[in-house]
Amino acid sequence: MAEHESLEFGKADFVLLDNVSLEEFMANLKLRFEKGRIYTYIGEVVVSVNPYRAMNIYGRDTIEQYKGRELYERPPHLFAIADAAYKAMKRRNKDTCIVISGESGAGKTEASKYIMQYIAAITNPSQRAEVERVKNMLLKSNCVLEAFGNAKTNRNDNSSRFGKYMDINFDFKGDPIGGHINNYLLEKSRVIFQQEGERSFHSFYQLVKGAPDAQLRSLHIQRDPTAYTYIKVGGQIKVLYHVQIKRDYYGWQGSRDLWCRHGTAWFVELTENSKLVSILGDLLSTKDENVEKALLYRTVATGRDVIDKQHTHQEASYGRDALAKAIYERLFCWIVGRINDIIEVKNYDVRVHGKNTVIGVLDIYGFEIFQNNSFEQFCINYCNEKLQQLFIQLVLKQEQEEYQREGIPWKHIDYFNNQIIVDLVEQQHKGIFAVLDEACMNVGKVTDEMFLQALNGKLAKHAHYTSRKLSPTDKNLEFDRDFRIRHYAGDVAYSVVGFIDKNKDTLFQDFKRLLYNSSNPVLKAMWPEGKLSITEVTKRPLTAATLFKNSMISLVENLASKEPYYVRCIKPNEVKSPLLFEHERCKHQVEYLGLLENVRVRRAGFANRQIYPRFLQRYKMISEFTWPNHDLPSDKEAVKRLLQGCGFEHDVAYGKTKVFIRTPRTIFSLEEQRAEMV
Ligand code: ADP
Ligand code: MG
Repeated sequence: MAEHESLEFGKADFVLLDNVSLEEFMANLKLRFEKGRIYTYIGEVVVSVNPYRAMNIYGRDTIEQYKGRELYERPPHLFAIADAAYKAMKRRNKDTCIVISGESGAGKTEASKYIMQYIAAITNPSQRAEVERVKNMLLKSNCVLEAFGNAKTNRNDNSSRFGKYMDINFDFKGDPIGGHINNYLLEKSRVIFQQEGERSFHSFYQLVKGAPDAQLRSLHIQRDPTAYTYIKVGGQIKVLYHVQIKRDYYGWQGSRDLWCRHGTAWFVELTENSKLVSILGDLLSTKDENVEKALLYRTVATGRDVIDKQHTHQEASYGRDALAKAIYERLFCWIVGRINDIIEVKNYDVRVHGKNTVIGVLDIYGFEIFQNNSFEQFCINYCNEKLQQLFIQLVLKQEQEEYQREGIPWKHIDYFNNQIIVDLVEQQHKGIFAVLDEACMNVGKVTDEMFLQALNGKLAKHAHYTSRKLSPTDKNLEFDRDFRIRHYAGDVAYSVVGFIDKNKDTLFQDFKRLLYNSSNPVLKAMWPEGKLSITEVTKRPLTAATLFKNSMISLVENLASKEPYYVRCIKPNEVKSPLLFEHERCKHQVEYLGLLENVRVRRAGFANRQIYPRFLQRYKMISEFTWPNHDLPSDKEAVKRLLQGCGFEHDVAYGKTKVFIRTPRTIFSLEEQRAEMV
């Protein structure tokens, strides 16, 4: 019996469970986790449980075992999914994507890295230099992005605080020739504030701990992170995640210098202290008096006059924080832009080389619930609703469509459709984003509480929305502050504090002008809007919510246009233990990820499907009717004959172009018979 079917390790595919019940599902998941089998299939979906220990299953020898194999020929692995996506791309010219989902700390980012490594390892057998260069860039860009976009949170020591979608382009030979990264909503509020026990982005600590003395001196930075309010807030200085920044690693030295110069800007606290102002002036390559003015005054046009209005203390602090966040965010986007410049496909002529195909890998922030959930968590969780919706649609839609096309009867499976929650957030006029935008459009002073009241007014009847006003006995919600969404993955209470500001995302024009007028060309280029003079009418920029919503909608459209492969990550415990399988936690994830429904759909459907000629090519040796060639009127007839001979008639259906096999067991058995013959 094949290793992956051995009962000692449980069922390699949940479709093989004797009964599809939550109990059996959980028992199998647990058994496999305990036996160090962290991957299990549901058909072509990989379910992964974070092992929280180094596993010896990603080496060169393992890669060789998976290369070019079919999914069911080897034990479940990420590599098998990566290979399936790669084969679909190469053999069938399909654009494919691998969507990795799961909550924060479940192992998404690690999975995406292993997938990239696999693809890099199996391509470019002829060692073309240009392809090697592209592969290196694709792999190494990760390190830079993690330094600037990841941070320690209470859920994960290396939590991605931005969403990432990476396309890898392949030429007609199946070798990578370039790529492109889209980044989504960096959690920039982390620059100025971290919850208890958390840290700011790794890059700050790396700089303070890693840069040589001379460099730090030139940047006016002290070695001691506790000297800086912004990065010591969460109280986590010691647990340093130190990534050695190597010069040659970057390939674009400029980014490092730039980061170092402007990195300091937000270490400096606002003060009338002229020394700090002059440090800022130096670092931003602009005049000290301009820095001071932008920090303390706001230039406003009243009719024909232009006057300088002094900030209140509160306005000035707000302005300073907004500046720090904006500089970091733009720096991050700039880095992504530079990486894209380097990895973008160059000199590819479709007429000469044929179509270039794409594999996309999505690693985006997972569903998260913190002690205090704000606008960022709201966006992140909305994103996960969108992806869940896509999963539901694709897994069901794709199956259904294929059965229809092939003329196979199909019976409907019930599942929780989260479209209703997606609508609650993004619907025009009465969705939460719309209500928020409306509040932000208001010229008068609208407070966060007023926004909450507006929500209560509009959404009182919605089954997935509540607040203290609507459920007065619910002591876990504060009046005038909280609302709760019943997400597909669980209930989350959000505090409206800061929603309006974060959505407006105002950065005073004075700062944009200040930076646009910097004599540093790179910095200047990041602030094109600073060009406008005060009297020029500026269009109201899109709100953070609208920008995010639009980016999610286009992301989902993009994914939906590709052939999707899924990795569903599960976090076994809250304490990063390799031994602990917390039953309730895991059960909850299995439930909200819809894994059981997934198994049911898969079982009601067919585990495997292959076009007739390919099926024959692989199995013809096991039947006297088909070996070495058949004389039946069609390949379809030949496949029928073969399967009848093996006694599998009851487990298969014959479509127009494909044979559908219900259970993987049949496939395993065919594989074994084949192995005996060859
Ligand atoms: P996510 O991106 O889902 O938030 P990560 O991929 O960052 O989670 O994983 C969190 C941590 O869990 C990692 O830093 C690592 O310590 C551990 N981990 C995740 N996947 C694996 C794996 N396949 N093998 C070993 N450790 C892992
Ligand atoms: Mg991550």
